Amino acid sequence: MTAPLVSVDRLVRTYRMRSGMFGRPRGVCAVDGVTLKINRGETLGLVGESGSGKSTTGRLVLGLENPDAGSVAFDGRRLPAMDTPEWRGSRARMQMIFQDPLGALDRRLPIAAQVREPLDIHAVGDEAFRTARVEELMRSVRLSDEVGQRYPHELSGGQRQRAVLARALATKPEFLVCDEPVSALDVSIQAQVVNLLIDLQAELDLTMLFISHDLRVVRQISERVAVMYLGRVVELGNADDLFVSPQHPYTRALVSASPAPGARRSERIVLSGDPPNPAAKPDGCAFHPRCPSAFARCRTEAPALVEVAPDRSVACHLTGLESGAAVVLGAVA
Ligand code: SF4
Repeated sequence: MTAPLVSVDRLVRTYRMRSGMFGRPRGVCAVDGVTLKINRGETLGLVGESGSGKSTTGRLVLGLENPDAGSVAFDGRRLPAMDTPEWRGSRARMQMIFQDPLGALDRRLPIAAQVREPLDIHAVGDEAFRTARVEELMRSVRLSDEVGQRYPHELSGGQRQRAVLARALATKPEFLVCDEPVSALDVSIQAQVVNLLIDLQAELDLTMLFISHDLRVVRQISERVAVMYLGRVVELGNADDLFVSPQHPYTRALVSASPAPGARRSERIVLSGDPPNPAAKPDGCAFHPRCPSAFARCRTEAPALVEVAPDRSVACHLTGLESGAAVVLGAVA
């Protein structure tokens, strides 16, 4: 078995926040002990509601923020600290696609010039090579040369996200973090961009972390899926299995709200209680105020993420009781 391209080990990220103008600053833990592995050539989907910590996890994995604890290894080597020369050197191999393509593009520059920028920054090839590479990149994301002469505001949302993708691919990265890359697009355009990502991943042997709250899209593109709730991974497994037989009560609720096409529609599980708020994290299992299966232990003890079957891990006291022979994967405070 080959080593994973990306290994994330017990990442923790806490922000200092003040409640109100005169409130005392206190720590709000956005990512709380996340451990993940992403194999070469695979897409790992990362799902969860707003406030679950998935975008922060994406930034930590790319080194755009430094963790308070834990580590990220890329291609077997620990990721260098942000803004060091070593970190800048590794950035050509790892890129990020953001939700808002207009915000990611420079409104004053034509698209082709922006696609070329990373080649200039990393001094890749000579003038002729860079010109040819830009043409190749525009073709690979299905944009014409004529679109390359336009400015971002003259493009549709789908065209802009393709341009962002072309720029991200300029230095031939091995790893892409896509943070809600289609959620700002019309549904019809979403499918085109997701299909393009699937094609490019196969053509270029890309490894991807695909972050989204949209389970339909995650199911379409991911080989494996991690579900996050209030900074922790609560379920992790093969995408097909996880969507067919979700184990964690939170995953069950998410899946019931977004059944697979053609699947028998099971009863929708509507979660009560407040949506996740990292500034007011409950004791014990963070999901217990909303969990229909909560019992006394859940209010005082956080469940560890345990392997309950090959390629399936769950953080729930009930699953641990049922499986009996579960293997503890990551310590949870
Ligand atoms: Fe629900 Fe308890 Fe499992 Fe948490 S540990 S998901 S509260 S049953």
